[in-house]
Amino acid sequence: MVKERARILVVGGGYVGMYTALRLQRKLKQELKRGEVEITVVTPDPYMTYQPFLPEAAAGSISPRHVVVPLRRVLDRCHVVIGEAEMIDHAKRTAAVTTLATDEEGAGPERLEYDELVLAPGSISRTLPIPGLAEHGIGFKTVEEAIGLRNHVIEQMDIASSTRDPAVRDAALTFVFVGGGYAGVEALGELEDMARYAARYYHNVEPDDMKWILVEASDRILPEVGEEMGRYTVTELRRRNIDVRLHTRLESCVDRVAVLDDGARFPTRTVVWTAGVKPHPLLAGTDLPRNEHGRLKCTPQLTIEGTTHAWAAGDAAAVPDVTAEKPGTETAPNAQHAVRQAKVIGDNIAHTLRGEDLETYAHKYVGSVASLGLHKGVAQVYGRKLKGYPAWFMHRVYHLSRVPTFNRKARVLAEWTLSGLFKREIVSLGSLEHPRAEFELAAGGKPPTDPKGSS
Ligand SMILES: Cc1cc2nc3c(=O)[nH]c(=O)nc-3n(C[C@H](O)[C@H](O)[C@H](O)COP(=O)(O)OP(=O)(O)OC[C@H]3O[C@@H](n4cnc5c(N)ncnc54)[C@H](O)[C@@H]3O)c2cc1C
Repeated sequence: MVKERARILVVGGGYVGMYTALRLQRKLKQELKRGEVEITVVTPDPYMTYQPFLPEAAAGSISPRHVVVPLRRVLDRCHVVIGEAEMIDHAKRTAAVTTLATDEEGAGPERLEYDELVLAPGSISRTLPIPGLAEHGIGFKTVEEAIGLRNHVIEQMDIASSTRDPAVRDAALTFVFVGGGYAGVEALGELEDMARYAARYYHNVEPDDMKWILVEASDRILPEVGEEMGRYTVTELRRRNIDVRLHTRLESCVDRVAVLDDGARFPTRTVVWTAGVKPHPLLAGTDLPRNEHGRLKCTPQLTIEGTTHAWAAGDAAAVPDVTAEKPGTETAPNAQHAVRQAKVIGDNIAHTLRGEDLETYAHKYVGSVASLGLHKGVAQVYGRKLKGYPAWFMHRVYHLSRVPTFNRKARVLAEWTLSGLFKREIVSLGSLEHPRAEFELAAGGKPPTDPKGSS
């Protein structure tokens, strides 16, 4: 039984936000029933995105609705507020939140008061001031970006198939990915595989007409699966005719020409930027301590250093890795840590409310699995190295076991089973991004121009 009514504010509805709220719902079931505790989750979208499935969503193996988890359904004992925290004053225990309603009414942000804060806004793409990147780059962190990229790639194949201009055709069939972490490698692997398959339905586009280029500044890709498996991935991608360039940086993409620092120039309509993440800018709008990389400084118990009643985890937090041999090591920003840290935060908030001792977060990274297209993969888990079909199979089994809710597991499994029985989906629904275009044309207005300039 808690001493007095506690208002818990969770900022972010991603891995950390959703799993913390789920844990709190379970741990504080009786307190919630008695009205002693109130949990509010503030997040811009009404769903949690299972990011490891984004590459498969881009390839069309999983439909976009099944990559996301509806927060209102799973967090049925919490208040879910669709909005964005703009500023947090922890000294006063208040957060300024904008919602669709505050935007509509032109009112300023709403002030939410709290007793316990869980700050988990995740990260955003880490970009560099590369000329042309802001205008032409495409990110790969959200379901909208993944589906947008899928539509865009198929659209480029349609453009290449119908143009008579060889320069336009060449640029349309050139796809540049910058950044060799799992987001970039999996997205490229899945999309290349999908485009290679789709090419069989085009009378004048062959897989060898397409150029897929992976640009990585360091000497290796996919560090998450270890050095040896990273080297295997380079060999495997090159075997598929993918141009993997290590020790290489993108210098410019002005006028839709990707210029690399090794002197190569690729006219292209597709530059996908997956070169790392940085903590969410909201953190700068708080009175909480951050490290030199902008992450919230945390203790091993996941409180924010030097504060009480403030907690953080996931991509936004610098959490000491107590299992590491080297002192000062922090846990890597990935889902494996985020999910486990969320459970510890949930438990520790319950302990705090009951006056009990806190738990320490300790998890040794067990390795990773990555998909490189249908039936292709690479993995290193608990020191075991797998490649090809077994790794791909393990990737699917692992993520099926991890995707939240039985409902999502069943739907994803059904989709995979059906796509094994029938042909793959190769349709582009890019027009969904402009649902009013047809009507506006009929009504005599001007159709909207594509911001990506892809058609
Ligand atoms: C394509 C891709 C593939 C990946 N694959 C893997 C993988 O295979 N294995 C793995 O371990 N990790 C993987 N990751 C990384 C993993 O998804 C992240 O580490 C994890 O999502 C971090 O969890 P988080 O809760 O900190 O952030 P997120 O899950 O990103 O959640 C942050 C939440 O905060 C919300 N938010 C943002 N701003 C505000 C605001 N102002 N107010 C309120 N809410 C806000 C966001 O909308 C979001 O809901 C992948 C990432 C990507 C992009």
